[in-house]
Amino acid sequence: MTTSISLPTPSMPRKRRDPSEIAPPAKGAKRVLLASPRGYCAGVDRAVVAVEKALDHYGPPVYVRKQIVHNLHVVDTLAERGAIFVEETDEVPEGARVVFSAHGVSPEVHRSAEARGLQTIDATCPLVTKVHKEAVRYARNDYDILLVGHDGHEEVEGTAGEAPENIQLVQGPDDVDAVTVRDPDKVVWLSQTTLSVDETMETVRRLREKFPNLEDPPSDDICYATQNRQVAVKKIAGESDLVLVVGSANSSNSVRLVEVALEHGATAAHRVDFAREIDEEWFNGIATIGVTSGASVPDVLVQQVLKVLADYGYGDVEPVITAEEDLMFSLPRELRRDLKAAGADITNKRSQPGDL
Ligand code: SF4
Repeated sequence: MTTSISLPTPSMPRKRRDPSEIAPPAKGAKRVLLASPRGYCAGVDRAVVAVEKALDHYGPPVYVRKQIVHNLHVVDTLAERGAIFVEETDEVPEGARVVFSAHGVSPEVHRSAEARGLQTIDATCPLVTKVHKEAVRYARNDYDILLVGHDGHEEVEGTAGEAPENIQLVQGPDDVDAVTVRDPDKVVWLSQTTLSVDETMETVRRLREKFPNLEDPPSDDICYATQNRQVAVKKIAGESDLVLVVGSANSSNSVRLVEVALEHGATAAHRVDFAREIDEEWFNGIATIGVTSGASVPDVLVQQVLKVLADYGYGDVEPVITAEEDLMFSLPRELRRDLKAAGADITNKRSQPGDL
């Protein structure tokens, strides 16, 4: 079944009320605190460019298993250019080319693609691959692996599929009581890359109470981009009457940003896919609006939100920078090989910059 997402190209929202009808701030001047870092991480950028370059190089259609990244605008824009999004590899015609999404796949998906003779481009984020390798290594040493993550998330399915006999999912602190292991001296926790750092640490604290010899992962599984965006939103949340997070509902890290903003002082916080979803009632009596976006969100969507805020008098935008990011991952190996053989550009440079 092909993924059907009916989504028009984002447009500027229509105003439902005159901005002068919105109650002015009770205290202070209208302003926006714009969090940085926000938006695309290195893994998302790589995955999106991989599909763009695959479309340019091989020509459409290029099949993509699952949403390449969890953002409606990105998926729809790539679909308009000829990408065909499917749920499973058995929907891809035999011998056709398929891209695996940034969230990663289990070994079973690789086997199924191979059995159908598919030409695969694996756009799994290298930081997700790192967690897969950790799972394989601990399973080989016969550890019980407690994977902190959300049931049904594609990344969790992919990681769990690396060692299904050894991995059990722990969704949060409330799951800890039910966890049992074979040997409490041989147990490690790993995690999904896009979780709330604070909630995960609370889950681990509870796990360690139960299993004092619980081992930590060799390095942070919650990735740099997730952590940086949470630090930035914490910084703006305390000063914000309202925080707007641009991101899709199935984007784990975007949803976490709303939660983190509320936990760190924002009076209100909302997630929007597009500027047109903003409800002007949210502005009543509000002085400071914090703005950020999830790791799968192109900045064009944030700029559209800022335009709407300016229409309502929030044109004073103050960047709040908590970290600089310059990490970049090279394109998937299979794609680089074919581009190189054709003398084409193998860098992450976009062929059609602007809307992605
Ligand atoms: S959020 Fe982190 S793990 Fe996920 S694609 Fe981005 S860099 Fe990779």
